[in-house]
Amino acid sequence: MKRREKLIKLLRLSGLCGGFALFALLLLPGALLIFFGDSNSSVENGERIIPPKSIHVYRTALGTVEEIDFEEYVKGVVAGEMPSNFAEEALKAQAVAARTYSLSKVIRSGDGGYPAAHPNAPLCDGTHCQVYRSPSELESLKGSAWMKDGYKKITEAVEDTAGVLMYYNGELAYQALFHSSSGGKTENSEDVFVSAVPYLRSVESNYEDAATHKNEKTSLTYTALAETLNKKYPDRYTGNFTPSAIKIRDRTDGGRVNIIQIGNATYSGSEIREALGLKSANFSISKEPYNIVFTTNGYGHGVGMSQYGANGMAEAGFDYKEILKHYYTGVSVY
Ligand SMILES: [Zn+2]
Repeated sequence: MKRREKLIKLLRLSGLCGGFALFALLLLPGALLIFFGDSNSSVENGERIIPPKSIHVYRTALGTVEEIDFEEYVKGVVAGEMPSNFAEEALKAQAVAARTYSLSKVIRSGDGGYPAAHPNAPLCDGTHCQVYRSPSELESLKGSAWMKDGYKKITEAVEDTAGVLMYYNGELAYQALFHSSSGGKTENSEDVFVSAVPYLRSVESNYEDAATHKNEKTSLTYTALAETLNKKYPDRYTGNFTPSAIKIRDRTDGGRVNIIQIGNATYSGSEIREALGLKSANFSISKEPYNIVFTTNGYGHGVGMSQYGANGMAEAGFDYKEILKHYYTGVSVY
């Protein structure tokens, strides 16, 4: 798509009249460039997509749609999704991932309508999209001292990367997914979700030493395991089984359980994670006389950027572009 078409589309999405946008783009390009910033500055390779000035966000608790300045929204997402005591370059990487992810949702909903979960806005403020907190909400949650310290740090990370997005083959990297920690290796997208995305490949995540949720144990009886699975997945039935009928059959490239057999039924690791409320599908099992123990490593789906891994890389001296290019294979950041 040509840059003007992109701008027109984004102007439409941001609520401005398309006719006005076309008129303005044809006659007042200078004024618009001042308004949106100079799109030709700091071009690494390819055309930059210029985000809209503001976006519409469904505020879950209020049940209303709020128009929020786009970069202010990104600050509220970084604050909602990553601890402010993470290193500056990790916060910048998070800012770019969050900005790319949310702009993708705005652009895609322009083609296919808004999600059923919030039919009047392209984004919501919960985990369904990305967690967003307004400055006043953050102040009441975390206090005014945090605003002067943590929020200031987040603000700087967002402003230092203002407008920067991730691209793959010159197109926006639509699936800028991230998770808390991988447990050592991230996942191929198709091993966790439906489709293979070229930049969501399994990579080592070697800097997660400080990650939470390591070697967490969940223990339950075989009976409870069978009851939970049979209730959650009525399309399959474990039948009566002995511990020897529980076997991990296959693992993904990233080390998560791909197929586990339990009695007569098989499940994906993600299905077990969901049914038992495990932190990760990266688990091992140990079989005791009456109980099975699941030991999990990492927290989240494991696809895309590991936040703890990003923080570890930042502390080891990598900058935000290096972090993003590590976790999103083959992307450009500009
Ligand atoms: Zn949502």
